[in-house]
Amino acid sequence: MTNQYILDIIYLIASVTFVLGLKMLSNPQTARKGNLYAAFGMTLAILGTIFIYENPNGETFRTSVNLGLIFGGLAIGTTIGWMTAKKVKMTAMPELVSLFNGMGGACAALISLLEFHHNVGHTDRISIIMAGLIIGSVSFSGSMIAFMKLNGTLSKSIRLPNYNIINLILMIVTVGVAVFVVASGTDSSMWLYGTFALALMYGIFFVVPIGGADMPVVISLLNSFTGLAAAFGGFLYNNQVMLTGGILVGSAGTILTLAMCKAMNRPLFNVIFGAFGETAAAGAGASTKGSIKDITISDAAVLLNYSKKVIIVPGYGLAVAQAQHIIHELELILEERGVQVKYAIHPVAGRMPGHMNVLLAESNVDYGKLSEMEEINPEFASTDVVLVVGANDVVNPAAKNDPSSPIYGMPILDVEAAQHIIINKRSMNAGYAGIENQLFYDPKTSMLFGDAKDALTKLVNEIKTL
Ligand code: NDP
Repeated sequence: MTNQYILDIIYLIASVTFVLGLKMLSNPQTARKGNLYAAFGMTLAILGTIFIYENPNGETFRTSVNLGLIFGGLAIGTTIGWMTAKKVKMTAMPELVSLFNGMGGACAALISLLEFHHNVGHTDRISIIMAGLIIGSVSFSGSMIAFMKLNGTLSKSIRLPNYNIINLILMIVTVGVAVFVVASGTDSSMWLYGTFALALMYGIFFVVPIGGADMPVVISLLNSFTGLAAAFGGFLYNNQVMLTGGILVGSAGTILTLAMCKAMNRPLFNVIFGAFGETAAAGAGASTKGSIKDITISDAAVLLNYSKKVIIVPGYGLAVAQAQHIIHELELILEERGVQVKYAIHPVAGRMPGHMNVLLAESNVDYGKLSEMEEINPEFASTDVVLVVGANDVVNPAAKNDPSSPIYGMPILDVEAAQHIIINKRSMNAGYAGIENQLFYDPKTSMLFGDAKDALTKLVNEIKTL
């Protein structure tokens, strides 16, 4: 068997592990194993490429200098990746995912920069290289901006006047220059690096103006860009495993993007280009009126303990407080008392797609107790108490009744239909979209102020005494 056959078999095994891994990631029970399967396949593919690959002329790249560079790079990358992933707090996970995604885009862009001069004169290959360069660079710089927005270093939405027109022009110029490079057959580094700079700039300008509540769509879109850029690398090297991996990431990211658009009720075109002539700046919205009502721990405990049905709405604050274990304890103790308990999961709750599912899976909440928005919304009217823990934007009625609100049109959890609403958060501060929430002033709402972990611990202890 020739080396190429062995490598093909390795690539096939790796591709199968990617598909299996992706499938297993769709369920919290199998997700960890799925991740390990895919990582095993990736390791196999990397080692196979390093030790077996030879080009069509039978030449290998395995000089001691190259091997030293490869293993040096692998050691540095693995150590940084391992340590960061070990140390990262659960709340910082979304920005870490953005950062890792950006690194994928950067790799694709670097491949294009390195391969350009070796392929001048081959129009087909130069087209692939330029496409990989643009998409990889946009994904890299866009993900870095998303990273900064998620960790709070950058203001959530900065909009230059006519930002959508500027972005459109920038995109057309970037693609135009790349088309010129391909069509003219130039080997000029100036044009190559010019395209690179333009694409980086477009990535920045593309993500900077995106409003808070639209971030989930952008994050998944950037994810699909990285996959696409990697797939171009696969075409370039005629490497099946790189192609399969890239296509899987690209298509999974695209499906997620469409799911997020549906969740936000935003056409993708609007998120990317912004609504032309749009005037409402992020943070706008009608001012709220009315007074708020506090509830004590003991009153909240009585209300929950003597309910028939309770729906818990988790949000980003649950992750901040790391209150996933205590909320599970609350659920169990209420069920012991004969209360029916469910969790209502909004698709963009938290700071990354699936954030609440991951968080609650960590504390072994039964997956069957999590209900998606469309499924749970009709149930609020027959619910005694809704307990909102660290959620804000996903229960903000402005999305339904305030056309001037930046989240207007986004489907939300209809918690105001329940008999009583208890909202646990630390203050009257706004959520990610930066807007006030009229729900806090609803006569049916009671505010349970305090850190979620602390408040829920006290609540559980109080219920135990009843
Ligand atoms: P929000 O960001 O709207 O609100 C979270 C609330 O949690 C805050 O109002 C905060 O209020 C409260 N909170 C923070 N820390 C604690 C704590 N320790 N204990 C109790 N409460 C706390 O979160 P939602 O989940 O409702 O909505 C998600 C938002 O994030 C949406 O706008 C979404 O578009 C956006 N987003 C989502 C992404 C995704 O992929 N899911 C990605 C990027 C953005 P206080 O400070 O008063 O405690």
